[in-house]
Amino acid sequence: MTQKFKIAVFEGDGIGPEIMAPTVAILKKFSQLRSDYTFEFNTVPAGAAHYATTGESLPEASLQTAKDSDAILLSAMGLPSVRYEDGTEISPQIDLRKELNLYAGVRPVRISRGQRTPLKSEAEVDFILIRESTEGLFHSQGSGEVSDTVARETLQISRETSEKLFKFSFELARLRQKSGRGQGRVTCVDKANVFRAFAFFRAIFDEEAARYPELIADHAYVDATALWMVEKPESFDVLVTENMFGDILSDLGAGLMGGLGLAPSADIGDTAAVFQPCHGSAPDIAGQGIANPFAMVLSAAMMLEWLGINHNQPTMVGDGTLLRLAVEAVVARGVYTTRDLGGSANTEQACAAVLEHI
Ligand code: ATP
Ligand code: MG
Repeated sequence: MTQKFKIAVFEGDGIGPEIMAPTVAILKKFSQLRSDYTFEFNTVPAGAAHYATTGESLPEASLQTAKDSDAILLSAMGLPSVRYEDGTEISPQIDLRKELNLYAGVRPVRISRGQRTPLKSEAEVDFILIRESTEGLFHSQGSGEVSDTVARETLQISRETSEKLFKFSFELARLRQKSGRGQGRVTCVDKANVFRAFAFFRAIFDEEAARYPELIADHAYVDATALWMVEKPESFDVLVTENMFGDILSDLGAGLMGGLGLAPSADIGDTAAVFQPCHGSAPDIAGQGIANPFAMVLSAAMMLEWLGINHNQPTMVGDGTLLRLAVEAVVARGVYTTRDLGGSANTEQACAAVLEHI
């Protein structure tokens, strides 16, 4: 039986359309090679350029298409020159997280042997950072108080979201351990020593941890975590943290992987999920066809995994894994990589190399 997946596609701004088109082409190729699934892609408008011409950054119809889809692919949205009236950047991706309640921002950090990294150690790195994506310090966006003398923002941690977030983290650690990749460890990253909100966060983590006695649960302060991500990143398995801390640590993770061009992400809720690269719309290189498409392609690979494609066939690895391995092979070979990775390929050539590998 052929399963049909509806995918909403947000091409976004800047380099967005340039990295989305070849990614969709790769997914189409995959589904042509398989008889058990097929995709229906629906491209929908949203973003800064759309806001500049229409006054709407996330049209209701686009949101509805996203809600009616099995998964959402998003490249990057926002341009420094286009802002809302309060001066903040256009960020429909944040609206999507809130609208669809995508509380778990999943950011894998993987460094395989031979990959360019600023790290001195040769150790292989493979951990997952989970960033809460609907509350925390991002919660007050647009609703903070600003006067001439003081500015104040709110940090919100709720029991309901934290419980779901930690459950997701422990389940993921368990899955990784089953597949032989993880140590069955979840580390709660916080600042419980100075903020009551983080002591609350940590207490809920401990409650959830008690439900998973077979897994290791531990804690780390965010400042120490930043240090250890540089000094001993191979020691981590699953890290879970608040929104703002996760935002900062995921850029650090991208830096360790040799740059934003290889950093994928997924924002996952109970039933919906958005897959997008960690990087922004890179307006400085837009229109030149030189953007690195791999973070987008790796995000699409995470989508295949999340959709459970081929996961019920024990003799095969899933297509998500195959796609990730194809990208890793092209990066390791180093011939068809883009400028940011030290190569000279353009966006299309880099994707063609991945297709070739498949
Ligand atoms: P945002 O606020 O949306 O996170 P940002 O201000 O952090 O955006 P990016 O758009 O991520 O900025 O770009 C940061 C730098 O990284 C830029 O110099 C950009 O050209 C580069 N960059 C980002 N993505 C890519 C990519 N896919 N390929 C090559 N270079 C990239
Ligand atoms: Mg950024």
